[in-house]
Formats: sequence, structure tokens, C-alpha cells
Amino acid sequence: MPLTILFPDSRSSELDIERRITGPDVVMLNPRKDRFDAIDISAWENCDGIVVARIPIDAAVIAHLKRTRIVVRNGVGFDIVDLEACGQAGIAVCNVPDYGTTEVADSALAMMLAFARGTAACDAALRADLKGGWTHVHNVTARRLRGACFGVIGFGRIGTAAALRARAFGMQIAFYDPALPNGAELAFGFTRARTLAELLGLADVVTIHAPLTDETRAMINASAIAAMKPGSYLINTARGPICDTSALLEGLKSGKLAAVGLDVLPNEPATLNDPLVAAWRANEPWIRGRMLLNPHAGFFSPDAFVDLRRKAIETAYYYLRDGKLANCVNAEFLKQRR
Ligand code: NAD
Repeated sequence: MPLTILFPDSRSSELDIERRITGPDVVMLNPRKDRFDAIDISAWENCDGIVVARIPIDAAVIAHLKRTRIVVRNGVGFDIVDLEACGQAGIAVCNVPDYGTTEVADSALAMMLAFARGTAACDAALRADLKGGWTHVHNVTARRLRGACFGVIGFGRIGTAAALRARAFGMQIAFYDPALPNGAELAFGFTRARTLAELLGLADVVTIHAPLTDETRAMINASAIAAMKPGSYLINTARGPICDTSALLEGLKSGKLAAVGLDVLPNEPATLNDPLVAAWRANEPWIRGRMLLNPHAGFFSPDAFVDLRRKAIETAYYYLRDGKLANCVNAEFLKQRR
């Protein structure tokens, strides 16, 4: 029986990059649906590997995975996969940790720079009124970055890349990451905060690069914002549910937060049901020029997209062919490999 890999929700109609890795003998199923039950059940039952983007791989799906040995989440975050249930079924779960590291770090910096220098707000003001917009006053979030403190929550791949970029702008760097062993602060010469509140009290720009976990869900809530310095920026390019958007709205409205940059939201895609999104969309005077919203596109560049596809199939295929496991994120639950 040839190896079969299911791509339930691929964005690509042609799996040409993937085919170059596997050669002609692997069967690749590419139904391109957005729901588990929109795909023929036999595809789930007969696949050796799955490369998934958005469809949750939960207990209900796992019950149908009779042959599957590996699930690769086509991205960094793997919160859509039930790691424990997969592990107990003998299924390895892997992510693709490194396809867009520099793009996401660049995106966080792009938001900070847009606020500090007013590039987006000035452009919007000019577009609305060419004569009246010809003034710096529309840059309502302007600040000097040199000497300001860049505070990173989650000092992993992206957080470190963001910090190194911010250092080039003359900023002081502080980070909070309770999972890192001692010493990362010494290697970089950065300040390490031992608590979230300590970091929030130090930083002029807070940027989130932690994964979504039980611990980080709604980590940025009203009390976190109360602990921040007045007039700081908050940037989230990690996962939407890490921030409580009603607390962000209050923080912006009260002036405690100068600016909020979001590439991610608790509910995606964005809808006007979220009062923060509604206020931003209405361009209400109190939020004008102080919020940037992007469509969870921080990872995207054509190069990153190619890397993502190539690295995902390499992970799935090399495991199925050679038993070589890379970037496994459920090792602690993986009882008995199939
Ligand atoms: P990483 O695993 O290298 O780094 C995450 C860091 O967060 C780790 O060092 C970890 O110890 C730390 N962390 C864990 N729990 C924490 C907590 N409670 N408080 C503070 N730090 C904590 O991951 P990465 O490659 O840097 O990616 C970070 C996140 O970025 C991903 O989890 C993903 O959700 C998000 N992401 C977003 C996009 C996008 O397009 N916007 C793209 C890729 C990744």
C-alpha cells in the first residue's frame, strides 16, 4: 500500500513543492475543505500522515485516524491539535517552527515603527485631505525609540529576532519568559524580568511572542494593562486569545495605552461584533491613528510560504519513510508509536 498523506485544508491547488520532496510514489489527497466532515471519511481513515492548517484535529477526528502516524501543523502554533489524544493514539504531532520567524519579527517591528513615526496615520490623513493632512499632528503616537524599553513576552525564536532588531534602533531590551533556563539574559546582555508585572512596568513597547496556552490565554487583561507604563504600545503578533480585546479597548480609551497593533484576534476573521474592531473600523476620534489591525498575515512572504510547504512535507514524509522525527511537540504524550 503506498504512503498516503492527507492535506485536508491546503491553500494550494497544486502540491508541486510537496511532490518534489516525495517523488511520484506517495499518494497525496488534497480536498481543500474547511471542515472535517466535508471530507470523505475514507480519506481520514486511510492516511498515514496529515498536513493540516486550520481544521482542528480533536478527539472526534482522531477516532477516525486508523493508520495515521504523524500530524504536521502547517505553521508554528499547534493549539488546533489535541496533543494528548494524538499521543495516546500513537500519533506524533509536529509543527513547522522556522518558516516565518524573521517575517513575524519584522511585522512586530513594522507596527512599532508605524506608530513611532506615524507612517500609516499620516498617509491616511493625507489621503483623506491632501491640504489639511500636510502636517505632523496626525502622528498622535509619535515617540523617540532610542533609549525606550522594548519588552518581549516570550523570548523564543521570534521574540529574540524582534529584540535584536529593536536593539538596532537603540532601544533597551527586557524580556519575560518563565520557561527559559537562567542565562539567556547574560548571553544577550538584556534585562530579564522575573514576572509579567515586572516586565510591564519596565517596557514602553510590549510585544507578545508567546504561544497560546492555558497560562497565556487572556494574559493581557485589565490588570495587566494597569501594570503597564502610561502611554505604552502593545503589539500582538502571536495569538489573539492572549489579549482580552475589551481590556485593550478600555486601555486605549483611557489613554493608558498609546497604541495597539494586532495581527491576530481572539475571533478570526475580524467582525464588528468585537467592540474594539467596531471602534477601529468606525475610525472613532479617540482611536484614530492609534490602532493597526492586520489579517494574521505576520508570517507571510512568498519565500516564507514556500519554506512552510517544503518544511511541512519534509517533516511528514521523512518520518513516514525513515522514522526520523523532527519538531515533535507532543513527545510527552507519545506513548507507543505506530
Ligand atoms: P518559540 O516556541 O520559539 O517561542 C515561544 C517562547 O514563549 C518560548 O521561549 C517559551 O518559553 C515562551 N513562553 C511560553 N509560555 C510563556 C509564558 N507564559 N510567558 C512568557 N513566555 C512564555 O515560538 P516562536 O517561533 O517564537 O513563535 C511564537 C508564537 O508566534 C507562536 O506560538 C505562534 O502562536 C505565533 N506566530 C504567529 C504568526 C503570525 O503569522 N502572526 C506566525 C508564526 C508564529
